[in-house]
Amino acid sequence: MRFREPLLGGSAAMPGATLQRACRLLVAVCALHLGVTLVYYLAGRDLSRLPQLVGVSTSPQGGSNGAPVGAQPSGEPRSRGPRPPPPLGVSSEPRSSRDSSPASNLTSGSPAAARSLPACPEESPLLIGPMMIQFNFPVDLDLLAKQNPEVKMGGRHKPKDCISPHKVAIIIPFRNRQEHLRYWLYYLHPILQRQQLDYGIYVINQAGDTIFNRAKLLNIGFREALKDYDYNCFVFSDVDLIPMDDHNSYRCFSQPRHISVAMDKFGFSLPYVQYFGGVSALSKQQFLTINGFPNNYWGWGGEDDDIFNRLVFKGMSISRPNAVVGKCRMIRHSRDKKNEPNPQRFDRIAHTKETMRTDGLNSLTYKVLDIQRYPLYTQITVDIGTPS
Ligand code: BGC
Repeated sequence: MRFREPLLGGSAAMPGATLQRACRLLVAVCALHLGVTLVYYLAGRDLSRLPQLVGVSTSPQGGSNGAPVGAQPSGEPRSRGPRPPPPLGVSSEPRSSRDSSPASNLTSGSPAAARSLPACPEESPLLIGPMMIQFNFPVDLDLLAKQNPEVKMGGRHKPKDCISPHKVAIIIPFRNRQEHLRYWLYYLHPILQRQQLDYGIYVINQAGDTIFNRAKLLNIGFREALKDYDYNCFVFSDVDLIPMDDHNSYRCFSQPRHISVAMDKFGFSLPYVQYFGGVSALSKQQFLTINGFPNNYWGWGGEDDDIFNRLVFKGMSISRPNAVVGKCRMIRHSRDKKNEPNPQRFDRIAHTKETMRTDGLNSLTYKVLDIQRYPLYTQITVDIGTPS
């Protein structure tokens, strides 16, 4: 018996060629379906990585002062999983109506445009790792402003391609250290931009020549910065400290963050485990929980130990980068006049538990004498009074 040649489009017999064509079509449809599903899946995981996944490169924004040293650092473990919830007290909501305040107008982009941007990735793709930090050249602030065209008047910046949940006010207590400030701005602006932070720089300048009070200036910075913008994180930094690796994030974590954990002047390690000086970061909520910082430490030393005590007494612990990522350089200098070691500091540190309820944000008094918005920072000059 002979099978008849199948008729194209016939239905009686099983047609071999038609079956093959049908199978090919089915395979093609399945492949297309798989492809589309894959693209949607990847886009849903992290939209910002999509260009990389499809082979389009992204270039770093802003300058990159601080030449990278060698290859990638052996830094903190990099999380690759799903995005964790935002840090304590940090909202990932689009900007509120407060953003229409004059100072927030200094920032770029309209709220409508911002709403369509994706959230910034958990780890910025712009980081370069270890950097060479030197202080042997002059810094021209006009030139520096030109090298950082994305930084807005007053030292404000936010990423233009994504929304950062980290709205960080950087507070620098200050008096007569213009040269150090220039180095700080030179190195930190590019680093903070690469970290994709929504940030502002506040230099709190103590007027007059009475004895220096670092912690009180920091309290003032907290209060004044909040008049500008809805910051949810505060980094308190000495003017002479520069991080040596941009993986050391100038932002807040679920616990208070100590940032300058491996300073060159201490042989790149902590001088003691409770050390919380130099550069640290507290979320707005963490800062409020401890009633801010003490106002009664006049002269050098002790205020950072008091802050550490406050955090511990409120049940918090300290988060830190590792000692490789946490390396930083201090600009060498002689002791400032009117900032001699405070002989009362040991006694004060011993009583933090009692004093923290009444000495802090709730007892803060000062007078703002002047506010200057420079291209790379805001300087607030204040009269902080004298020791009582
Ligand atoms: C002081 C701190 C200081 C630390 C490191 C301590 O004795 O109380 O304020 O940060 O030494 O220099």
